Amino acid sequence: MNYVLLEPEDFAAEDRVRLAGRRLRHVREILKSAIGDEVRVGVINGKIGKGRIERVDEDSLEMSVLLDCLPPDPLPLRLVLALPRPKVLNRTIAAATSMGIREIDLINSWRVEKSYWKSPRLSAENLRMHSILGLEQAGDTVLPTIRLHRLFKPFVRDELPHIIHGRLALLAQPGEEIEAPRQILQPAVLAIGPEGGFIEREVETFREIGFTPVSLGARILRVETAVACLIGRLF
Ligand code: SAM
Repeated sequence: MNYVLLEPEDFAAEDRVRLAGRRLRHVREILKSAIGDEVRVGVINGKIGKGRIERVDEDSLEMSVLLDCLPPDPLPLRLVLALPRPKVLNRTIAAATSMGIREIDLINSWRVEKSYWKSPRLSAENLRMHSILGLEQAGDTVLPTIRLHRLFKPFVRDELPHIIHGRLALLAQPGEEIEAPRQILQPAVLAIGPEGGFIEREVETFREIGFTPVSLGARILRVETAVACLIGRLF
């Protein structure tokens, strides 16, 4: 947590917040901050700035806050991600959010385990929590929009063609001949496969609607590593 993210209900006054729980523990035990110290803060979906600790004890702390800067710009990238294993999902959401992705589509695919769709980690509460972890890491405040698409075809065939209109559409596929481009300087949509990879028919569907399969080379990377490498390369 490099920034303490504030929720509207934390505000006791326009420039004063009261915190308890996880954020209090972080300020006391990790940052080891005391009265008079400053910590970096941001307000959910709003500005970032500084907080000065005015009072702290075991149960809560109070800070005066000055929120005077905009959060960093988002990446012009929409991520279409075949639903990964629940544990990997948490990490990938936090990582993608920390890198500035504001739109994530979680999609079904032949090799996505049916049980993953029943995971409590798909709850709005869990997705929000892991998005917040990413925002706190990066010093951003804007929560991503995460959409769930439990059926591959209706999303990829009917919705995705409209979404990719005017954007570069890339499908990450290990071993493809075409290398993933660098520094694209334009809005893009990036599709990442499940742990077993997309099946041939699915790859064909992506191609038909306008995606270009691209690779980072022969090494097969974990989902969250592939997302980070591709973003680093594209932007
Ligand atoms: N089992 C699959 C296979 O053998 O092709 C690999 C799946 S990989 C664990 C999960 C996803 O990460 C892939 O579908 C792809 O989208 C992305 N990925 C992993 N390594 C990649 C690479 N070298 N280049 C492009 N994408 C990659």
